[in-house]
Amino acid sequence: ESTVHLIAAGEVVDRPVSIVKELVENAIDAASSRITVELSTAHGVISRIRITDDGVGIPSDQVRIAFLAHATSKIRTGEDLLSCRTLGFRGEALASIAAVSYVTMITKPKESDTAILFRITGGEVVECTETGAPNGTSITVEEVFFNTPARRKFLKSLQTEVAHITSLLESFACLYPGITFRYLVNGIEKFSTHGGSDLSDIFRALYPSDAGMMIPIRGRDGNTLVTGLISLPKLVKQNRQRLLIAVNGRLVQSPAMVSAVKRAYGSLIPGNVWPVAVLMLEIPPAEVDANIHPTKREVRFSAERTILDLLVRTVRLALDDANL
Ligand code: ADP
Ligand code: MG
Repeated sequence: ESTVHLIAAGEVVDRPVSIVKELVENAIDAASSRITVELSTAHGVISRIRITDDGVGIPSDQVRIAFLAHATSKIRTGEDLLSCRTLGFRGEALASIAAVSYVTMITKPKESDTAILFRITGGEVVECTETGAPNGTSITVEEVFFNTPARRKFLKSLQTEVAHITSLLESFACLYPGITFRYLVNGIEKFSTHGGSDLSDIFRALYPSDAGMMIPIRGRDGNTLVTGLISLPKLVKQNRQRLLIAVNGRLVQSPAMVSAVKRAYGSLIPGNVWPVAVLMLEIPPAEVDANIHPTKREVRFSAERTILDLLVRTVRLALDDANL
């Protein structure tokens, strides 16, 4: 493996949580209705990540190609990030993950009679055979970062890393209520959701003790729509980790929106704590900054004022309706 390739790989997958993110996004893009994520830990590290989906699968003659850098079946030039319907578009994830780990993929489109078992280790194909398997794709990643010792060494503690993955998967479950998610760590189920539920049901499955303290919100300004759940003022957290914001189905970081939500609560909650919220925004793609870096999640909006005002208004209205 050339150094250049490993550095490039590191930009896309710098930690186990980014591997999980890329693979779950692929499963979502593959129109899956069930996605299962299994983690195994050993000797203080995440030793195995497995994602299984029931999506469209990869045709046998495309499997090898899918692992090449810049190979994507999701062509979209000239479109901006938040207008594309699929989450992936760069064709870098599988190549990058395969460069820094041992990958085994079993994949079968429903049109094929047999599945393909494909193993690639540090970028080298070591097996490509026919096998039997259900429709969909299962990808197993082991020996993560085996050939990038520096990154291995600086990985955060196992607990922190698993916590990041858990919260990422909780976010995906909220964002895609139509998909059945199952999440296991060392064979123990951490959560599962039922596809086809609404956001409140998903939230209840994820956070049973908090669910009774959430109220739905809905607001519109022109073509901008915000829906979701916010917490009653008695449910607050010490940090912003439970303030989930998605724009056009994509998880984003937006300090401006977080402050807007906080502002809407006013004196209902103290300054040093944060409400819980799931905010789903639909914004016309033309109003979202096209120059966002794909691996960064921070977004800018041309009509930022309007969007922030809408957020504040919608949250205030919901709190007023709750008769506090
Ligand atoms: P991107 O998602 O940006 O296209 P990736 O490297 O993540 O690039 O994936 C490369 C290609 O492999 C995808 O375009 C898709 O065709 C295929 N692929 C990857 N994962 C799956 C999956 N779980 N189900 C079906 N196809 C997949
Ligand atoms: Mg992808």
